[in-house]
Amino acid sequence: MSRSDELFARAKLVSPGGVHSPVRAFKGVGGTPRFMTGGAGATIRDVDGRELVDYCMAFGPLILGHGNPAVRDAAVAAIDRGWSLGTAEPYSLALAEFITARIPWVESIRFVTSGTEAVMSALRVARGATGRDLILKFDGCYHGHADSMLIRSGSGLAETAEPDSAGLDKATLGGTLVAQLDDEAALDAIFARHGGEIACAIIEPVPANYGLLLQRPAFLRHLAQLCRKHGALLIFDEVISGFRVGFQGAAGLYGIEPDLVTYGKVIGGGFPVGAYGGKRKYMELVAPVGPVYQAGTLAANPVAMCAGLAALEQLADGKVYAQLEALGAYLEQALGAIPGLTLQRAGSLFWTFLAADAAPIRSLGELKARGGKPFGPVFHRLLDRGIYLAPSAFEVGFLSAAHTTAHVDQLAAELRSALQGA
Ligand SMILES: *Cc1c(COP(=O)(O)O)cnc(C)c1O
Repeated sequence: MSRSDELFARAKLVSPGGVHSPVRAFKGVGGTPRFMTGGAGATIRDVDGRELVDYCMAFGPLILGHGNPAVRDAAVAAIDRGWSLGTAEPYSLALAEFITARIPWVESIRFVTSGTEAVMSALRVARGATGRDLILKFDGCYHGHADSMLIRSGSGLAETAEPDSAGLDKATLGGTLVAQLDDEAALDAIFARHGGEIACAIIEPVPANYGLLLQRPAFLRHLAQLCRKHGALLIFDEVISGFRVGFQGAAGLYGIEPDLVTYGKVIGGGFPVGAYGGKRKYMELVAPVGPVYQAGTLAANPVAMCAGLAALEQLADGKVYAQLEALGAYLEQALGAIPGLTLQRAGSLFWTFLAADAAPIRSLGELKARGGKPFGPVFHRLLDRGIYLAPSAFEVGFLSAAHTTAHVDQLAAELRSALQGA
């Protein structure tokens, strides 16, 4: 019995599934989750002291790698000053000014503690701004675990919705419409029917939670036009893509301005931070200026604000993104040459799909239709060889500024032999 087996057996007795977020339990790959104690640069260390090259990187926040010195120093200095104040303070101001000065469509921003909370709050602003009830989301996008977002399309009639979780009330189910990615005609039909009732459409402009379902920019522009025409707000959920595919996220990459945007992950430098922001006229609907209530005891925690700013300061000049794009292109070459594997990539986000078909996958329907080899054996083979991928076939991989071409060469070699040997 390994140390992780022993800890997992104990953890299951005191927490559901032994974890505090489901994907950590290894259900998608089988076996015992590896208990980790820390990380440095591109590597993560398990309880037995083994170092593994990490391509999960805490599911996205650690774009600079584990233990980035400037982020660490900023967090430690903040702790020394006092780690929770519950007052107005200068630290969130510095982060808010840093962001609003660099992202024109974010004129005003509010910090919360998770991506889920950011999405929940942005949806409330959209309903408050429009006086409408319906929310339009897309199958194949994840927006955290607010009730109204745990809805997927029904298997039967078009536009029917089904819950993705037990415990949702029926009213919630009726409030969310679900559309398919990559399908303009279906979107037109939904807006033709419900346009006047839709408060907002929310989308991951780089959908990165069910594989990497890269959208055609024309599809995103079509959605933006429909929203404008029908008076619905466009919310870009950039919790993964924000400060990741570029400092200005996917909105900057594609040149499409959302009305509201949500952030998480990278924005906190690895500490619990989420944020929602956008045009001033919408953000000033939020309490205490406006009637849309939203609050948080630990919101804008000084340690997290200072860590977030220290991270974003290293990203703002674009050099890290250029470095990550070059490494991503290198990875695309190396992994793209492996038989039986399809690679999809956006900057430092990548997704390996274990099927030979090289055509891009842009929707959940296509993803389900493709099939592909089981991921579990490949995952475990790489784990044995010192490589930690996110423990699910549908999670993307993350490169950080601490990864090198030597890491990528090793990944390519191990993936190649795993796929040949399996
Ligand atoms: C991770 C994620 C969320 C949820 O953020 P949490 O901090 O886990 O609550 C929401 N939207 C997207 C696009 C995400 O990737």
